[in-house]
Amino acid sequence: MLDLINPNEADRLAALHRYDILDTPPEESFDRITRLAKSALQMPIVLVSLVDADRQWFKSRQGLDATETPRNISFCTHAIMQDEPLIIPDALDDSRFRQNPLVTGEPYIRFYIGIPLKTPDGYNIGTLCAVDQQPRELSDEQINLLWDLARLVMDELELREIATTDSLTGAQTRRSFQLDVKREMDRVQRYKRPAAFITFDVDNFKVVNDTYGHAAGDAVLQSLASTCKANLRSVDLFARFGGEEFVILMPETDRSGAMSAAEKLRNIISDTPVVCGDQQVSVTASFGVTVCDPEDGSVESLLMRADEAMYKAKKAGRNRTVFLGGAEFFRMRRQKQFAQVDSHPANQLA
Ligand code: GH3
Ligand code: MG
Ligand code: MG
Repeated sequence: MLDLINPNEADRLAALHRYDILDTPPEESFDRITRLAKSALQMPIVLVSLVDADRQWFKSRQGLDATETPRNISFCTHAIMQDEPLIIPDALDDSRFRQNPLVTGEPYIRFYIGIPLKTPDGYNIGTLCAVDQQPRELSDEQINLLWDLARLVMDELELREIATTDSLTGAQTRRSFQLDVKREMDRVQRYKRPAAFITFDVDNFKVVNDTYGHAAGDAVLQSLASTCKANLRSVDLFARFGGEEFVILMPETDRSGAMSAAEKLRNIISDTPVVCGDQQVSVTASFGVTVCDPEDGSVESLLMRADEAMYKAKKAGRNRTVFLGGAEFFRMRRQKQFAQVDSHPANQLA
């Protein structure tokens, strides 16, 4: 088994994990591909199999109940060692697989074909594979069909990636963040759990672009985003909302936890100049923090409050963190409404 692990296994796993797809629910776009392969080739089992460190996990499966199997007995771990499809016409004729528990027991594999799923940067993260319980042969045309379907699986993964990740910084896109936040907030509200939102915006970023050039500005945003990601927990959501504005959702985090997280990020950003060619660019950012309040009806009101806090930080001189709680925010809002009503001509005393 050990000789089946690629020398670049760590990079291969990193490439797989970048798609953030392991253990996600089934999706029609992948199921459509496996269904098509199953009926076009008359195969009892077709899988999109992703080869993780110790298991193969199936993003889509036709004709099999198991959602994963151990890697050390998987056929796909052999298939990802090569760039061509791995074809086993009869597993009982193959000394590598004759004794394999997937051959001697459920699902009684006899025929196997696995087409490697290759990322654009050249890593085989898994296979589109088809299995029969009878020995068989496939024509070149059938193999090519499966190969095209494997390319469609990769296209689908890449498209998801483009839609969910900002290409410059690797942070989540606004759209993808909002979908994830909605799911997280349902849980927060149902179980009355704490959660915090942090927004931050780079200070005087226009000056950075004007002084060092747009490419340096881009490098600053990239570096800042990777610093943030490295200092956040895996459960935190981190998104780029606009040019130089970012948003973080921290589940299970109260006011003091969120304030110290924001202060930590703010200090790292201001203390770490970004190296762009032969120059060093120092930037700061202003942070706004808020936490969920029972009065909050929507994610939008929380984001608005975190934004309001961030603008207070800007007004107070930048490079600082301001907290704005629900109670104060709703009081401010009511005062504003009253002020508007009071100043309305119809309500002025004659
Ligand atoms: P403030 O402290 O008030 O936030 O000032 P600021 O200069 O950061 O704010 P402003 O909104 O005036 O300028 C933001 C600038 O960010 C203007 C825009 O050209 C630049 N910007 C937006 N997106 C990108 C990007 O992807 N790359 C680069 N290099 N610059 C960007
Ligand atoms: Mg700014
Ligand atoms: Mg801005």
